[in-house]
Amino acid sequence: MASAERILERIAGYGEQIIGAQRQLIAVPALGPAVGGQGELAKAELVEGWLNGLGLKVERVDAPDSRVEAGIRPNLVATLAGGAGPRVWALSHLDVVPVGDLSLWSGDPWSLRVEGDRLYGRGVSDNHHGLAASFFGVKALVELGVTPPGQVGLILVSDEETGSLYGLDHVLKTRPELFGPNDLIVVPDVGEPDSSLIEVAEKSIFWLRAEVRGRQVHASTPNRGINALAAAARMMVAVREIKARFPERDELFTLPESSMEPTRHDAGVENINTIPGREVFYVDCRVLPQIDLDRVEAAFAEVFGEIARQEGVELFLSVAQRLQAPPATPADAPVVGALRAAIARVHGVQARPRGVGGGTVAAFFRQRGLPVAVWYTDSKSAHMPDEWTSLSDIIKDAQVFGLLYAGLWE
Ligand SMILES: [Zn+2]
Repeated sequence: MASAERILERIAGYGEQIIGAQRQLIAVPALGPAVGGQGELAKAELVEGWLNGLGLKVERVDAPDSRVEAGIRPNLVATLAGGAGPRVWALSHLDVVPVGDLSLWSGDPWSLRVEGDRLYGRGVSDNHHGLAASFFGVKALVELGVTPPGQVGLILVSDEETGSLYGLDHVLKTRPELFGPNDLIVVPDVGEPDSSLIEVAEKSIFWLRAEVRGRQVHASTPNRGINALAAAARMMVAVREIKARFPERDELFTLPESSMEPTRHDAGVENINTIPGREVFYVDCRVLPQIDLDRVEAAFAEVFGEIARQEGVELFLSVAQRLQAPPATPADAPVVGALRAAIARVHGVQARPRGVGGGTVAAFFRQRGLPVAVWYTDSKSAHMPDEWTSLSDIIKDAQVFGLLYAGLWE
């Protein structure tokens, strides 16, 4: 039997083991200190045991963090030796997000619930699905004695959900030599339910906070005050005018233009009969990567500043978040081609490279000129109550990884 078929068949038999792995992972809540947790060490040690059990070379690239009792945020780099061909990396994350409102869950979020093909619980999809798919793909190669054409590596990071400073950013800063521009890097953490999305680009993120100060007075004497709410309202409407200054389009993105929307508005005066003297609101901008965020920031300062002058209010603008997106992974990068072929073979789907509006951990690779593709079969239930994933999709995604690792996607 051809090796590709042997790999696919071997992985098809891993169902019970995958459920067992999910059951163990979910029982070790890995919440970062930013959300009140003790970090990922217990979970990392669990997974480290599995990796050692397969005979992989496992290295810890821990980041010190005094906010957790263990004092560290663990990161694992596990490798299987191969030939001189391109290295294949799969990066998944150990941490999960809090459960949120428990009353919205149908069962215990920290205990695996299996209903037919569906697995429920916090983290089953984000990111245990990706972790299991990349791990069981390697397991098949090891058990079948397949020597991959290039080194195969699994990276398991902490802190993905709360900024990645103690996770991938730390790994790339302390061990940059691990990665090269010819590597095939896959992050199984975002996708579509039919497996058709290969994310290769993301928009820049620009969050603006605007504070408008007028003069608070009784509402019957507006002539004695300066209405901060009326001025802020004009600015919020003017966001459309600012957006019109950036008409650039990029068809790689599902929404092929930049978005700029007023979103949050902090509470102002509580009563109806007071002219508000201070208002705070925010604007969320997702900007095409080819647009310089300095231009965006300048446009807000100019348009909001002119309204402030006309209204006689003081304006204080500050940046709540600003991330200039790195250049996209080329749509014809080898990792994209390999993934497309493997996905077509396993899922029977023609996946397409696309851009998305939200940021992912892949940006840390792209900032360093490393081509990376973000893909998996995504139930779209990440961070939600009753987060779920499908066992058959984990198996198929593991098969995609198996073919990638073995260089057998054609
Ligand atoms: Zn995730």
